[in-house]
Amino acid sequence: MRHHFRDFLLAFALCFSVLPVHASDARPSARIMIENVTVIPMDRDSLMEARDVLINGDRIEDIRPHGSQTPPADVRRFDASGRYLIPGLWDSHVHLTSIDHPGAPDDSLISEEAKRKAVEQRLKALLTRGVTSVRDPGMAERWIPLADSFRKRNDLPHLRFAGPVIERPGSPWSNNVEAFVDSPEEADRLVRKLAQSGVDFLKIYNLVSPDSFAKISETAREFDLPVAGHVPFAMSAREAVAGGMTRIEHAYVNLFKDCTEAGNGAMVEVLNAWVREGYDRRYRKFAELYKGRAADQCRELYAFLGERDVFVTATPQLDLPLTLSVGEAEMAALSAGARASCKRALAAQAEVQEASVRAVMDALTDHFRELRAAGVRLVAGSDAPTDCTSYGPALVRTIQLYADLGLSNREALASATVHAAQMARQDDAGAVRAGARADLVLLGANPLDDLAALQDVRAVMLRGKWVTASLPE
Ligand SMILES: [Zn+2]
Repeated sequence: MRHHFRDFLLAFALCFSVLPVHASDARPSARIMIENVTVIPMDRDSLMEARDVLINGDRIEDIRPHGSQTPPADVRRFDASGRYLIPGLWDSHVHLTSIDHPGAPDDSLISEEAKRKAVEQRLKALLTRGVTSVRDPGMAERWIPLADSFRKRNDLPHLRFAGPVIERPGSPWSNNVEAFVDSPEEADRLVRKLAQSGVDFLKIYNLVSPDSFAKISETAREFDLPVAGHVPFAMSAREAVAGGMTRIEHAYVNLFKDCTEAGNGAMVEVLNAWVREGYDRRYRKFAELYKGRAADQCRELYAFLGERDVFVTATPQLDLPLTLSVGEAEMAALSAGARASCKRALAAQAEVQEASVRAVMDALTDHFRELRAAGVRLVAGSDAPTDCTSYGPALVRTIQLYADLGLSNREALASATVHAAQMARQDDAGAVRAGARADLVLLGANPLDDLAALQDVRAVMLRGKWVTASLPE
């Protein structure tokens, strides 16, 4: 029997705007044909109009010109005329277990049951927005078994995580997601323990000493665990990358401090400006430091990062005034507590001058252009729930900010699809092609023309099954 896609959506939209899928659904999955859709494959430049996409189990079996073959009788057909099919999105920097505002009950006091509920809700919120893969770069060690149980759920996004961020004791940055190491011996022990507990990569934090860093990196190689992290304050970006860090979180002063006069002190200069003199001074300080850098030296550094296949999860939303990164959709998606704290943060930024915003935008635009020119791949991450970032809408906003900062719409979309999958070493994801995972998002408009189309999610497919659908028009 033939079902029209619109009928399918309508039938469910009558009851729910989001339809849950049951993990226990054990029926052998019939094949699905998404018909007459425009495919945006993302692993190549082309756009494929009028295609039939055949899904078998959790894989894309075939993509062929529309109507070129009569589908077998057992295929469930969905008319997707006028729609656009993109790979499922990746949010490559999300803290699933973190509290979302100051004053919320401390993470260490929360029961496992309450945490389970909260994480599930966050994963569902991400999925509804088309995020089918999530990378968590920092949660308390005690939540690893919980994260592992979510990793096994078929009805929630694919999940990869680092476990705790690795930091030095006494760090003022402590926010309940650290494991502390004070020597290479402790670092070695921790990495072995984390490898045993099944983490997918490691994340190094601000104050790790160079000798602990070296040991983390050495032991990580033994287990083939990628080393990600902040560039430690005591090391240059070049030293961190030469020492084995291949994924850098955030693209801020941490990256170009090597080519400023202040060197490793540049980060502290920005922090001091912010703490002592407020937001406006912070943005201006950042722009000044960038303007004053030795550009040739920076280019040489970025070329080195490119040669080493470094991925950078820039988080421009954290480096810009909140007015640019928090709109109505993002605000609405926050919890009541987070919304109140976000309103306070917005008020504190009221003093920021237009010229300072322009200066920081210009600096970031140039910074990103130089990185991309050197072959460094930028990846999108929301860093939810930090600084007013919501689960889902904040990722879409981050992709749009990338475009505002000079990336083409295609590059911006690659940061949340093909480049994210490459960073995670998942060759069968991040693109729409035969043999790839059937993690897909159906949009009402072409995101290559206008990234606002990412807010027009018509349906999400995860592991070959429709998991959410909302009414078209
Ligand atoms: Zn983070």
